[in-house]
Amino acid sequence: MSETFTALVLDQSDDNFSAELCALTDADLPEGDVTVAVEYSTLNYKDGMIVKGNIGRLVRNFPHVPGIDFAGTVEHSDSDAFKPGDKVVLTGWRVGEMYWGGLSQKARVKADWLVPLPDGLSPSQAMAVGTAGFTSMLCVDALEAHGLTPDSGEVLVTGGAGGVGSVAIAIHANLGYTVVASTGRRSEGEYLRSLGASEIIDRADLAEAEARPLERERWAGCVDTVGGKTLSTVLAQMKYGGSVAACGLAGGNTLETTVLPFLLRGVNILGIDSVMQPAENRARIWRRIATELPLDKLDAMTTVAPLADVTELAGTILKGQVRGRTVIDVNA
Ligand code: NDP
Repeated sequence: MSETFTALVLDQSDDNFSAELCALTDADLPEGDVTVAVEYSTLNYKDGMIVKGNIGRLVRNFPHVPGIDFAGTVEHSDSDAFKPGDKVVLTGWRVGEMYWGGLSQKARVKADWLVPLPDGLSPSQAMAVGTAGFTSMLCVDALEAHGLTPDSGEVLVTGGAGGVGSVAIAIHANLGYTVVASTGRRSEGEYLRSLGASEIIDRADLAEAEARPLERERWAGCVDTVGGKTLSTVLAQMKYGGSVAACGLAGGNTLETTVLPFLLRGVNILGIDSVMQPAENRARIWRRIATELPLDKLDAMTTVAPLADVTELAGTILKGQVRGRTVIDVNA
C-alpha cells in the first residue's frame, strides 16, 4: 500500500463547501517536476478567503489543497535546478489558488516556482515571512526606489498589527525610518512599539471622516494594506513627492480619490503584487529580507499552529483578529 500523508482538502459542490484533513498518496498530487516534503506553511489573508468558502472565487477547481506558501525539503526532482535534500521556499505563482498548495505534508510544483531557502533563515522563519512578509519587503523596496529615505519624513503603515503591517514596521524601523502605525486595536500599542513604531494612530482617524482632496501634508511614505477609504485619506495627506505602496484591501477594494494629490503634490501610488514577481527579483527581495528584517522581531510577531487549526484561524484572519504572522506546522 502507498504511504499516505495529510493535507487540508477543500471541496465544493452546489452550495456545499467543505474543508477537511484527508489522507492522500503521491498519486493524488498534481503534475510537476519537484516533489517537496513540506515542513511549514503559513496563514495569509488570501488563505483565509479561500479556506472560508472560496471568497472571491480564487479557486476554480475542486477538490483543492490550499496554502499559498510553503517551505520544506525536496524529496524528488526531475529538474536540474534542485536535488533531493535541498531546502526550498515557495510563495505565490497562484499556488494554493489555481494549483494545489502548501497546507499539506507534501506538494508537487514546477521547479521554476521554487527558490532555495535563503541563507540565514530556517524553514520556519521563511514561513514566518511568507507571502505577507515578502510583500512588506516589496513595499519597502518600491518606496525606496521612488526616493524614500529615512530623512524624507514619517512612514505610515496601515493595518499595523496584521502580517504585512507588522513586518513592514519591523523592516522600516530597522532601516532607521520613523514609523507611525495605524491600527483598530489600541490594545496592540505595546506590540507595535516593540516592533519599532514610534507613534500609534487609530485607524478610524483615516477612515471615518470624509477626506478633503488635499489635507495637511504628513507622510513621506506609506505601506497601505487596507485600501478603501483609508487609502483615499492617506493620498490626501501625503507630503510633496511622497509615495504609497498599495498592497492590500483589508478595508475594501474600492478607491475614491481626486487627481489633486498627483497633480499638485507629485504623489505616487505604487502597485505591489507578490504573486507573479519574476524569479530574479524574488531572489533579490529574499536576500534583503534575510539581512534587513531583524529575526528577534520576526520571532516575536510569530505564532505557530498545527494544520488542524487552519479552518478556525482562517475565520480569525478575515475578522482582522490575527496578530502578526501565523506559521502552520504541517507535521504537528
Ligand atoms: P492581516 O489580516 O494579517 O492584516 C490585515 C490588517 O488590516 C488587520 O490585522 C487589521 O489591522 C487591518 N484591518 C482589518 N480589517 C480592516 C478594516 N475593515 N478596516 C481597516 N483595517 C482593517 O492580513 P495580511 O497582513 O496578510 O494582508 C493584508 C492585506 O494585504 C490583505 O488585504 C491581503 O489580501 C493583502 N496582501 C496583498 C499581497 C499582494 O501581493 N499585493 C500579498 C499579501 C497580502 P489592525 O487591527 O492593526 O487595524
